[in-house]
Amino acid sequence: MPANGNSLDIRDEVAQGFEDIFGSPPAGIWSAPGRVNLIGEHTDYNQGFVLPFAINRRTVVALGPRDDGILRVASAFADEVAEISLADLTPDRLQDWSAYPLGVAWALGQFGADLAAVPGVDLYIESTVPVGAGLSSSAAIESAVAVALNDVWRLGLDRPTLARVGQLAENKAVGAPTGIMDQSASLLGTPDHAVFLDCRSLQSELVELGFTRAGLELLVIDTDVSHDHATGGYAERRASCEMGAMLMGVPALRDLGIVDLPRAREVLDHETYRRVRHVITENQRVLDTVRLLRSEGPLAIGELLDTSHVSLRDDFEISVPELDLAVETAQANGAIGARMTGGGFGGAAIALVPTDGISRLQVALDGAFAEHGFSQPTTFTVVASGGAGRN
Ligand code: ADP
Ligand code: MG
Repeated sequence: MPANGNSLDIRDEVAQGFEDIFGSPPAGIWSAPGRVNLIGEHTDYNQGFVLPFAINRRTVVALGPRDDGILRVASAFADEVAEISLADLTPDRLQDWSAYPLGVAWALGQFGADLAAVPGVDLYIESTVPVGAGLSSSAAIESAVAVALNDVWRLGLDRPTLARVGQLAENKAVGAPTGIMDQSASLLGTPDHAVFLDCRSLQSELVELGFTRAGLELLVIDTDVSHDHATGGYAERRASCEMGAMLMGVPALRDLGIVDLPRAREVLDHETYRRVRHVITENQRVLDTVRLLRSEGPLAIGELLDTSHVSLRDDFEISVPELDLAVETAQANGAIGARMTGGGFGGAAIALVPTDGISRLQVALDGAFAEHGFSQPTTFTVVASGGAGRN
């Protein structure tokens, strides 16, 4: 497989799509990957630790400059072409899917781009990242557009800053109160490594995964139950965490450890306590996973993945029956560990599986989902891949 994974497969298609819509070939093609979060769920906005990796599913952006101040954006995902003048670019004027790419253009202005001086652009977008599956098609589109505009507008922003640009677009233009994890993975990923990110300092280290050498593959099980982080549960969980931190007298849950659990149990109501316990124990699991990957390799991390799922299901209460079934079926059919991944309320689970057990597990999943009357999951393996860039 080429280093860029599936993006190479759709590059020609994207260039053609651009030409069909805008009438001339693009000036360049940029892309950014989706991500799988190996472990560290709902820890990012608590200023804790995460361990995601970029996957070989990418969002590809074809770009052509314009000689006026207009931004036009089209996607294979949607029928209409969205258009706005750079002079009118404010978060409240952006809506639907185009709030992601146009929000990035606005956010670049917040990070120093002079939007009155840069030229307009036409953008056309296609993706092999499943949308709304918890693999962060949102960060993939943001990061692809961010690197493209950073190049053509010659902004010279570094990758950690571009991650903050994407997050600002998602928070303010889309209205989803998500953390910095997804954009960091999409921008900082490298083949066969996870990005160990401290979401307070924003310092990151690459951690070798070594799945192939250990005879393992990472199977994504997309339940087809879609989620929406701009509404409901995600924001509610975030508010609980903020309340828990305030009542415990710390700036963020990151500042609490396992030793603080007895006091948390006394101070907090039972629901908030369980939310807080998830975050505290999940941060510890990320640290333990990094240590085990470095000392013993991926065969040693299965139990941490399993425990993470239990914590998300029982303490954080963001799993759904389809995700639980995917995880349980994987565990009963040879996976060394499995958990839901992403923000929850739907989306995908991941299972770390010996390579020769993948097809048996896929059959078992199909059977189990049919038996429960759930629609068939989509399953595919992913490999840790390179981050956003040109081509
Ligand atoms: P996830 O990040 O888990 O895939 P989100 O709800 O965070 O799910 O982001 C999905 C949304 O991002 C879509 O509903 C759409 O608005 C936008 N989006 C993602 N990829 C594309 C794309 N290729 N073209 C247009 N919009 C996209
Ligand atoms: Mg998302």
